[in-house]
Order: sequence, then structure tokens, then C-alpha cells
Amino acid sequence: MTRKRDPMTRELPRWLNAVLVFGTLATVVLLEMRRPLRKSRQSKLERDARNAAFSLMAAATVALAEKPVTAPLSLAVHRNRWGLIKMARLPVALDLLLSVALLDYTLFIWHYLTHKVPFLWRFHKSHHVDLDLDASTALRFHTGELLLSVPWRAAQVRLLGISPLGLALWQTLTLMEIMFHHSNLRLPLALERRLCRVIVTPRMHGIHHSIVKEETDSNWSTIFSWPDYLHGTLRLNVPQQKITIGVAPYQDPAELTLGKVLELPFSPERPWNQPEREQLPLPRTTLAG
Ligand SMILES: [Zn+2]
Repeated sequence: MTRKRDPMTRELPRWLNAVLVFGTLATVVLLEMRRPLRKSRQSKLERDARNAAFSLMAAATVALAEKPVTAPLSLAVHRNRWGLIKMARLPVALDLLLSVALLDYTLFIWHYLTHKVPFLWRFHKSHHVDLDLDASTALRFHTGELLLSVPWRAAQVRLLGISPLGLALWQTLTLMEIMFHHSNLRLPLALERRLCRVIVTPRMHGIHHSIVKEETDSNWSTIFSWPDYLHGTLRLNVPQQKITIGVAPYQDPAELTLGKVLELPFSPERPWNQPEREQLPLPRTTLAG
């Protein structure tokens, strides 16, 4: 058989990808309008327009800078059996499962670095300065951050041993999950308490977008929540109505226009004034409402 027939060298069919991504976006947007979780501070229309502009730039950056690197690399990885997963010669289902889990875990590390390495934080900050949090925030990443992540992505593919299908599956699941966990969707608390043991949920990620530094420094996971359990970085006991979304020194909406946020990485860093959190009644790893 020719190599063209090998399913691992293919990506998800375009129609399936579109149904999954746009289906998730439409469902989440509809539900967050019907069951909002946090009160919004800014005009939804204005934020949506700004975040849509970011997402178009992000999509262009991924298409022009990331894909031309990762597409041929993942094909070479698959054909030459490079990297951890390929060396193990696993059945297809296990290969795909491990690809998603390990890409997700190494994205956890990248996300941690974007907060802890000052140069990377300059760019990731553009994502965090949004004063409200909803599905549109999920698509708001500075082009610079996406460019800087290309070598990391290439290293993930090469060292972990990721085939084109594993990469495509992880990318689609990541996109669906980030639209869900950034959303302003109020799930029943009992359901979300169960869900967050497995995947990242809106209340859990809302705490990561708090202006309280100690809360931002928690919940770094993307799809599955186990990396935060593993590293003891889980923080669930902050009630959503007590959270102020954003970055402490950037709370003035007039400073957060599209142009100003694009310039943000190149302007002087402001000290993070430290809003404190009062004592909370629930234990750290119990999800508050
Ligand atoms: Zn972050």
C-alpha cells in the first residue's frame, strides 16, 4: 500500500473540523448568553470586535508561521519513527491518546513559562488584560506569542513523536476546550465539580484570569486538569463573583484598545500591585460557586 493511505499521515476531514470548532463556538456563545457566570464590565460588541481582530491575526500567524513548520515535521516524525511515542510502536488508538495527553502536558509547561519568563509574559499579558472573560477571549492571543511558540511546538512534535493525525486531533480538541473554559457559561456547580476533576472548566480557568497574582499563578492546564493536580497548582475555592478579571496594573479600558494591546509587549513593564484575597471558607481544591 502507498503511504498516502496511512491514516496517521492525514489530518481531520475539513468538514469534521469545522463542525466541531464552529459547533462548540455556537453552543458556548448561545449558552453563555442564557446562563452567564460573571457580570460583564465592558460592552460585549466592542470586546467581540477586538477579540475577532486578534483571532484573525492569530489564524493568519498559525497558517503562515506554524503550519509550514509542523506539517512537514510531523510527517517526517511519523515516517522515520522519531520521538518517544513512535519509538514505542503503539496501536493507533493508544498513539493518538498519548499524543493528545503529552501535547497537552507540554502545553501546560509552555503556559507556565509564558507567565514566569518576563519576555514571554510581555506577550501573554495581551491575552490576560481582557477585562471580561468569555469564548472570544479564547481566540485573543498576540501574534508575537504565537510566533514565539513555533519552536516549542516543533520541539513537542519532534521529541514526543507526533504524527499529523495526532497533532490535528490535539489542535481541534484544544480549540474546543479553550472556547469552553474561557466561556462565561454558568454550569450547575455539582456538575462542574465533577467535570473539573477531568477537564478544565469555566470557573477553574476564571480563577487563572484573576487580578490576584497568587490566583493567576494557578490552574495552568488546558484540556485535562491532571497537570494542575500533579503539580499542586490547582486552586478552586475562589467564588466567581469575588474575582476581578484582568491584570492588576491594566484596569483602565481606555488603555486596552486593539492598537494599545498590540503595543503592550513593547512598552515598559508595570509593577503588579498586589490585591489581596481575604480568607476563604472552602478548602483550596473545592470548587466554589
Ligand atoms: Zn495564562
